[in-house]
Amino acid sequence: MDYRKRPLLCVIAFVILLAACKQDPSRAEFALGTVCSVTLFNEGNDRIYKEIFSRFREIDNLMSVNIAASEINRVNAAAGTSPVQVHGDIFTVIDRALYFAELSGGAFDPTVGPLVSLWGISGDNPRVPSPAEIDEIMPLVNWRDVEIDRVTRSVFLKRRGMALDLGAIAKGFAADEAAAIIRDSKIKRAIIDIGGNILVLGEKKNKSPWTIGIQNPNESRGVYIGILRITEPTAKPRSGEGYRPVQTVVTSGVYERHFEADGIVYHHLLSPSDGYPARNSLLSVTIIAACSMDADALSTAAFVMGYEKGRALIESLEGTEAIFVFEDKSIRKTEGVDFVLSDEKYRLVRD
Ligand code: AMP
Ligand code: MG
Repeated sequence: MDYRKRPLLCVIAFVILLAACKQDPSRAEFALGTVCSVTLFNEGNDRIYKEIFSRFREIDNLMSVNIAASEINRVNAAAGTSPVQVHGDIFTVIDRALYFAELSGGAFDPTVGPLVSLWGISGDNPRVPSPAEIDEIMPLVNWRDVEIDRVTRSVFLKRRGMALDLGAIAKGFAADEAAAIIRDSKIKRAIIDIGGNILVLGEKKNKSPWTIGIQNPNESRGVYIGILRITEPTAKPRSGEGYRPVQTVVTSGVYERHFEADGIVYHHLLSPSDGYPARNSLLSVTIIAACSMDADALSTAAFVMGYEKGRALIESLEGTEAIFVFEDKSIRKTEGVDFVLSDEKYRLVRD
């Protein structure tokens, strides 16, 4: 070793160290109506972060009813008048939403738009509508009145006043799209968190299971009732180089959006059968699966269906698991869930 080179080597090492420290381990931005945070481990770089967040904004611009010029609003504005040709992304999501509408017997229904507006659920002034108001718009809520054409990629809402709302599925699609971008890069492991809906990609460095907190529905964000351990990727292992398993944990809970009127709490998970927030003894449903779009639709579907029907649906689907949290602080889960309860006010029940 040439000792005269030592200061130079020290400077180079310092610069490398500085660059490593500067590398942001995690980024967060507001998109899709919530805080989206992405953590790219080790090889996280600016280009991938930028690509992911611009993809989120792109999805938002297509699918958000709160963005005036969105494609979804174009489809809704043409309700009862004409089919609208749409971008492939939104077509994929609408097609899948209709699949889950049928699978859930209509509990999941992307045509809840008029009901969401009537209750003012996504705005600042929610209110309890009169029964007459609900009766008046109920004929507009029916997924069977959505016509899609796979050849022309067009969507037609048959009745004037109908409106699609993809709020229960679009965030899951966005998580899957972020995962696809990461998979195409050299990044080995990542966490995507879209408003509490989690997707983990790859394995932890020490091969220990990913651990994900399950939100306590009665407490503020980040207070957990227990920890879910992701031990087995439910995705079928694919051989080949660069394979990184993906697991997603998506929750629909009454705590996400709700308001109180005359001592009654009204939440945002609406029952398309009567037009009111689904009233069953549930506080939240968490789905664990490999596809975030499906898990997102299923968490909403299972919540609205209620425990018995919701559980039966989840158990009929391969590689899909669920945790149900009830008002009486009991918790039920499907067989394949590795969950460790930490809040002793709750109890895990087997039945
Ligand atoms: P999530 O948090 O994924 O369960 O989605 C809830 C959002 O989906 C609500 O804020 C509404 O915009 C919409 N929504 C409410 N009820 C339903 C339903 N029964 N089917 C489909 N979307 C719904
Ligand atoms: Mg959902």
